[in-house]
Amino acid sequence: MLAEKLLLNVLIILLPIFIHSVLFDNKNVGKSPYLCGVLQSIAVVLSLVFAYEEGGLYWDLRYVPLVLAFLYGGPIAGGMVLVTYLATRTFMGGDLLLGYASGFLAALVPLLFLKKFWTFDAKKRIRIATLVGLWPSLSMLVILVANIFINDATAEDTNQLMMNVAIFGAIQVFAVWIASILNESMIEKDLMRKEILRAEKLNTLGELAASIAHEIRNPLTVVKGFLQMMHKQEKGNNHYYLSLVLTELGRAESIINDYLNFAKPQFEKLEDAELAEIISEVTLLLEAFAAKEGVQVNVQLEWGVYVETDRNQLKQALVNIIKNAIEATDEGGEVHISQNTVGHESFIVVSDNGKGMDSAQIARLGTLFYTTKDKGTGLGTSVSIKIIEAMGGSISFKSEKGVGTEVTIMLPAYKKENLTLLNQQK
Ligand code: ADP
Ligand code: MG
Repeated sequence: MLAEKLLLNVLIILLPIFIHSVLFDNKNVGKSPYLCGVLQSIAVVLSLVFAYEEGGLYWDLRYVPLVLAFLYGGPIAGGMVLVTYLATRTFMGGDLLLGYASGFLAALVPLLFLKKFWTFDAKKRIRIATLVGLWPSLSMLVILVANIFINDATAEDTNQLMMNVAIFGAIQVFAVWIASILNESMIEKDLMRKEILRAEKLNTLGELAASIAHEIRNPLTVVKGFLQMMHKQEKGNNHYYLSLVLTELGRAESIINDYLNFAKPQFEKLEDAELAEIISEVTLLLEAFAAKEGVQVNVQLEWGVYVETDRNQLKQALVNIIKNAIEATDEGGEVHISQNTVGHESFIVVSDNGKGMDSAQIARLGTLFYTTKDKGTGLGTSVSIKIIEAMGGSISFKSEKGVGTEVTIMLPAYKKENLTLLNQQK
């Protein structure tokens, strides 16, 4: 039976992948094109040996290892499989010219795709591999049709042949498809392993940096204290220089504090804080800044909603977000802050009609040190995200270039009136 033999061939096609993942996974030799070449060569020989023969025609998946070797192993692996195929074919005899020609033909298409293949993502690669894998069966179809016309076959024979071609094509596509999926998942596993190692390294590095930042902060505070004293006593040029030194020192200090906050948001004092109160305190704090930038800040508050949190941390998170909104807005623009609560979730929406961001910029938000400003630190958003998430909330950004940005902060909250109501009923 054709289908049975072909299914055996599918197994042969999958063999190199299984051998590879069981024996050579995680080993350096696993990436060698020679190993891929040897394994796929074994598959091609087995496929030829276990071919289904009927009326002088051979049905097997010999071209699949060839295609896979070229696409996933590179030209060296592909070349090895091609040579093995030609040698086996010579050894087996028969119509050698046709065998050689179809072998070279089958190698040609993957060879053409080789350069572009790795520029695509995994999904596209699977699709391309499947299409390229289809091509040898198309050429087989052409040979068959020619065969039918030249030999003047009977209708019954023709039907049988057509049927065979259909089964052959389907199984061939299936084989390449499943093999490339398995290959891709192996590649992904490898990438993931590397990524985990990298993340671990970064984590240690981050902890190291945090402890260094911590150590630097203490002497900095002492230096700042003495400089402030000198600043008060000095007159003239020195007074001016010292104010410059102090501002820059303040900047250095706030960067270190932001970094430490990012590395580990520390909630010193948890208390029930009224959300509206915190927001109004923050807007009051930023009022002068907004006025300087010529931006109008509108606030719409909902009183009676509480969050259990460290107020200073939450204020810091809000300041960063609102300050960004003000900075993004041109003179005469508007920043709108609103708050409303649904169930146990309170939403704070900060929207501006400033310069906005495109999707690539939004994707980079929250990456440490990503900034588009001359004097920016690229820490504000990351710190805010970290703080909000540590509070069990979430933050989302919606923005359109040239139109504006809308930042939505969700925080777990509760309404206190209900509590007092309950107490009264008791
Ligand atoms: P910084 O403000 O120091 O640049 P942030 O982490 O606070 O660092 O912000 C990172 C970048 O995200 C900003 O430089 C800016 O390009 C962009 N950004 C943040 N908020 C907004 C906003 N509301 N509108 C437009 N761009 C924004
Ligand atoms: Mg900022």
